[in-house]
Amino acid sequence: MKVCCSCGRETDDYVAFACPGKECKRKIVRCKACKEKSVKWVCKNCGTSGP
Ligand SMILES: [Zn+2]
Ligand SMILES: [Zn+2]
Repeated sequence: MKVCCSCGRETDDYVAFACPGKECKRKIVRCKACKEKSVKWVCKNCGTSGP
């Protein structure tokens, strides 16, 4: 289980990608629902956000 960066829920149905922030290697996890709705996410490490 991973915690979605957008809604904070634990999910098994998610997509993960590397944070696009400069020199940030944090993995951004988004659940399927948030991905489909393009819910905003915020990187807790560097503050980068995106749709
Ligand atoms: Zn979510
Ligand atoms: Zn980041």
